[in-house]
Amino acid sequence: MYEAKIIVPKNIIISVGVVAPVVLKTKTVLAGGADQILLPKDWSEDWIVGYRRITSRQLQSEPVFVNDKPPKYNKKDELYSMICPCCRGTNIEQLDESNRITVYGKRGGVCKMKCHCLNAKCDYYW
Ligand SMILES: [Zn+2]
Repeated sequence: MYEAKIIVPKNIIISVGVVAPVVLKTKTVLAGGADQILLPKDWSEDWIVGYRRITSRQLQSEPVFVNDKPPKYNKKDELYSMICPCCRGTNIEQLDESNRITVYGKRGGVCKMKCHCLNAKCDYYW
């Protein structure tokens, strides 16, 4: 559920290819076709320059990678902690009732924004 941004040091050899299709014992076919990058065995975690949470929503702006290594989750509510649906950042403020922004759609829809992303490049409300 996390993606890591990695900078591979100069002169390190990596293998880049395409994932082959696989047929499981259950006869399920995994189509393959995705890009595949193989790092050298025992590659250093020091190459990781940031992490970001993956969600099912499409990215609407450039993703934000943070330096904090993802925590080990123990409880379901920790697993689904608050993240920005736009940049996936975790620096979120929950707006109290007096600071909530109400948005009125042109077709009559009303939406009250309860959260604000504090990532300055994002500044998204939802
Ligand atoms: Zn954001």
